[in-house]
Amino acid sequence: MRSWLEVNLKNIEFNLNEIEKLTNKKAIPVIKANAYGLGSIEVAKYLSQKKYKLFAVANFQEALEIKNFGLDNKILIMGNNDKDDLKLAIENGFSITISSWNDIENLEMLNNFQKALIHIKIDTGMGRIGFFPEESEEAIKHITNNKLGTIEGIFSHLSSADENEDEFTLQQINSFKKYEDNKDVSFIHILNSPGIFKYFKYTNSNFVRPGISMYGILLFDTPLKKLLKPVFKLKTKIISLKTLNINTFISYGKTAEGKKGDVIATLPIGYADGLDRRFSNGGTVKIDGEKCTIIGRICMDMTMIIIPNSLKNKVNIGTEVEIYGQDINEQAESIGSIADELMTRINKRVLRRYV
Ligand SMILES: *Cc1c(COP(=O)(O)O)cnc(C)c1O
Repeated sequence: MRSWLEVNLKNIEFNLNEIEKLTNKKAIPVIKANAYGLGSIEVAKYLSQKKYKLFAVANFQEALEIKNFGLDNKILIMGNNDKDDLKLAIENGFSITISSWNDIENLEMLNNFQKALIHIKIDTGMGRIGFFPEESEEAIKHITNNKLGTIEGIFSHLSSADENEDEFTLQQINSFKKYEDNKDVSFIHILNSPGIFKYFKYTNSNFVRPGISMYGILLFDTPLKKLLKPVFKLKTKIISLKTLNINTFISYGKTAEGKKGDVIATLPIGYADGLDRRFSNGGTVKIDGEKCTIIGRICMDMTMIIIPNSLKNKVNIGTEVEIYGQDINEQAESIGSIADELMTRINKRVLRRYV
C-alpha cells in the first residue's frame, strides 16, 4: 500500500452525538465535497443506519451519487441549482434550496413543481446566496400562494463565527430570529461548526449543520474541543532510506542540499495525492509522534524528509509516517490555508481505509 487515509466512522457518529447533546438540537450531517475528502458514500452509508433525518450536500451531483449508491435518506442540496439540475433534483426527491427570485422563476417554469421540497435560504450577512431578510416574506408568500412546493426548511449561514467577530455573528443570528418560531417549517438551521460551539445558546433553531466538527476538527480554540474525537489520519510508509556519503541536492530544482551523514527517507506521496506543494522545504510530517522536516520540493508522487538523530535507529523501509492528523489546521495555517482545503484535496489515488 502506498498512502492511505484512515477514517474512523464510529468517531464521526460519536462527534455528532456530542454536538446534539451540547446544543440540544438535531444534526444535519454535512457530507458535501466527498464528506470533506473522507468519502461521502461510506460516511452516508454508516450514518444512514442511524437516526439522521437529513443529510446536506453542496450540489445535485453529490446528492445523486449518494442516492445511486442505494441510500434513501433525505438529502438537502444547500447550493444553488441551475434550471436543469433543479428539475432533476425535484424528480429525485431531494430537498432543494431556493435562494433568489431567479430560483423561484425556474421553479415556476417546471411543471412538476408541486413535489418540490424547499428550504428557503436567507442571507443574514454572508453575502453569498439567499434572500435578504426584508425580501424573504414576500418570497415565502409567493411560493406558498402559488403552491410551488412545500417549504420544509428555512436556513442561513454564518460567515465569521470562527473569527473574533461576536458582534457581527450575533447580528446574523438575531436577524434570523424571526424565522425560528415558524411551526409550519420542520427544519430551521443556521449554525455551522464554529456557530455550534460558540453560539448554540443564542438561537432557538432546531437543527444544526456540522461539517468540519463532525470530522473531529475545529478551526479555532475552545475548551469544548475536547468533546470531539479524532476521525482521520493521512498516512504513508517509507519506501527508500539512504545515508548520504556526500553532500547532494535533493529533488527538483536543487532547492535543498542534503549534507554528508544525513539520513533521507523517500515517501510515496506527492502533490498529486493532495500533499500541498507549499509544504516543500520546511513542512513537517511525524514518525512515532516526532516531527521530521520535508527537504526539497514535493514531487507529484514522492516527497523526501530528513530523519532526525533521535529516529535514526528506529526507522526502516515500511516505517509508518503520519502526514496529517489532529494537527491538520495548524499545518494548513503554516501555508495560509485551512484544514477544510487540505482535507478536500486528498486525492482519489489515496486509499480510504475505514475502521
Ligand atoms: C459547508 C457548509 C456547512 C458546514 O460548515 P462547517 O464549518 O464545516 O461545519 C454548513 N452550511 C453550509 C451552507 C455550508 O456550505
